[in-house]
Amino acid sequence: MGFRQQLETIKKRDPAFKSPLEVFLYPSFWAAGFHAIGHWLYLRRRFFLARLVSQLSRSFTGIEIHPGATIGRGLFIDHGMGVVIGETCEIGDDVLIYQGATLGGTGKDVGKRHPTIGNNVMIGSGVKILGPFKVGDNSRIGAGSVVLREVPANSTVVGVPARVVNRNGKREVNSLDQIKFPDPLIMDLNRLRGQITELEKRISQLEGASKKRVERFLKPNKNERTAGMKIYNTMSRKKEDFVPLIDNSASMYVCGPTVYDFLHVGNARPLVIFDSVRRYLLHKGFKVNYVQNFTDIDDKIINRAKSSGATALEVADLYTMEAKKDIEGLNCLEPTSSPRVTEEMDEIVKMIQLLIDKGYAYESEGSVFYNTSRFDRYGRLSGKNLDELVAGARVEKNEDKKNDMDFVLWKPAKPGEPRWSSPWGEGRPGWHIECSVMAKKYLGETFDIHAGGEDLIFPHHENEIAQSEAANGKTFARYWMHVSFVNLNGMKMSKSLNNFLTLRDASEEYSYPVIRFFILSAHYRSPIDFSPSQLRSAQSGLERIKNCAGVLRYESENALSENLLEGESAIVYDASQFVKRFEMSMDDDFNTANAVAAIFDLVKYANANVSSNSSRKLAKSLLDTLSELCTVLGISLDEAAADDTSEIDELVRKRQEARKNKDYKTADAIRDELSKRGIALEDRADGVRWTYK
Ligand SMILES: [Zn+2]
Repeated sequence: MGFRQQLETIKKRDPAFKSPLEVFLYPSFWAAGFHAIGHWLYLRRRFFLARLVSQLSRSFTGIEIHPGATIGRGLFIDHGMGVVIGETCEIGDDVLIYQGATLGGTGKDVGKRHPTIGNNVMIGSGVKILGPFKVGDNSRIGAGSVVLREVPANSTVVGVPARVVNRNGKREVNSLDQIKFPDPLIMDLNRLRGQITELEKRISQLEGASKKRVERFLKPNKNERTAGMKIYNTMSRKKEDFVPLIDNSASMYVCGPTVYDFLHVGNARPLVIFDSVRRYLLHKGFKVNYVQNFTDIDDKIINRAKSSGATALEVADLYTMEAKKDIEGLNCLEPTSSPRVTEEMDEIVKMIQLLIDKGYAYESEGSVFYNTSRFDRYGRLSGKNLDELVAGARVEKNEDKKNDMDFVLWKPAKPGEPRWSSPWGEGRPGWHIECSVMAKKYLGETFDIHAGGEDLIFPHHENEIAQSEAANGKTFARYWMHVSFVNLNGMKMSKSLNNFLTLRDASEEYSYPVIRFFILSAHYRSPIDFSPSQLRSAQSGLERIKNCAGVLRYESENALSENLLEGESAIVYDASQFVKRFEMSMDDDFNTANAVAAIFDLVKYANANVSSNSSRKLAKSLLDTLSELCTVLGISLDEAAADDTSEIDELVRKRQEARKNKDYKTADAIRDELSKRGIALEDRADGVRWTYK
């Protein structure tokens, strides 16, 4: 390639070229000149000298051209430097190569290892053409591409690995997936194909089914809604379909706390579980009548009053108030009714009288007892007969009783004790009668679900059944649900065993939402261990969910596009599958552990599929789904917003200011401080975003 030819080429390729003398300043000019000498020597088998010239040229120009390479007329290497042209390369006429390109090879075999470049080819900066294939005439290779196979003539290729996007002036779409490489379009198509198959399966199941079934499928009625719900009934010891007494409505009675002290963590479990049961029933479209009492007169309250110098009523008032604070902290919905024993005295006296009249109770020395030998079904809930119960129970010996298992309905007041008047003298009711009375008053003689802790099965619930069914002559509760214990130090948490932690103290250490989440993370019929490691894992799990909600909330307001983008409707569809899984778990005897797992999977899916490149609508849709599921379990996602975040916002602002003033020491100190508080910062083009880690 002569001097004149070089001059013409440079003039043509570089619009910045002005003076002919400049030609000597182009590395490309020198590289081509040296290569002409090297190649001449190479062809005459002076291999060492040829290579020497090539290497001198490389040190001088920064362009390495093997002396063996064949180069056509009019090669121009723009910006010079870093170009490597391999030994068996053949380059056609009028080729333009930008800096950093490699026309190399990957094989170690002797023979043709480098590409053949056609005429009028443009090779962008940083391109690698690796292999002995041909790059056709008039082709263009986009910057940064890695070419691993033949490039047809008149085409444009881009990407890693490079693929043809334009050929003979037309866009090429079908050849996007040149080798196996994840392609978003193909992924969307596959997902759609899966959905179609699923729909076809459902349609084929309906083919041949009765007309009625097809109609039910198209328009699910209320029975269809409840048919899937199963509750483990302590009475039958198996999971039963939940069919409510009244369509679309459910009645629940939950035995509440005795208010003689702060609640302990063991008390929190039935509160949280049955609140979640109620929330799920609401989610399924039921109206729920939820009654939870306070036992505000009891031996324990009287003893507490004696030791503290307050009256029993004052003790009960104080701890009712404190219990309500805890219950609110746990985010339990307010019961439809929360009656107190001391306010239901007339009804209690009436029911005791009715039991005496019917021959199920008897008076003895100012006390009234229930005669358990008169009630055939006594022991049915606990699955034991009277003899077994007598043998197993620590029965209070009392000469006034006819049978050891008889229990007290009314007891006479001792001097100084609170008292109410009755046909049997002044006194107060026994513990069990209140629930029979309140359930009847607020829910009716028969209702749907009676719930409480496992330790209430006997004697409390057994006695409630005996009282109510004897008095009313009807089935009392239709489904009995009992939650298992909370263990502390490997033992059941219990006030009487002096192995307990108050809910208040625990809430100060771990917060109420974390305790609620910890309780929900296990199935209610298995015991759980209240241990620091379990609580920590609940805490990080809850934060993971909140963090995801925070990101979704942010993107739903700040993402670049407004409406759903291509492929996003498939993501929305996929997200609905997590709702299905959640509902299936809850339908299966309120398996909150699996329901929480479905939420975690949704979080994982959302984290993987939503970014600032998503649409706001997608982020909003996933946020709505996540919030809906969390609301069913009483997990509040708004807490971060409800928290006072102004302090964090202020710190973030101060850090920005410090960075602007190049005071990086202060900026880093603020970042560390925020990190200690569990706040992560992300610097984005549109500002700084903070999230909970
Ligand atoms: Zn009760």
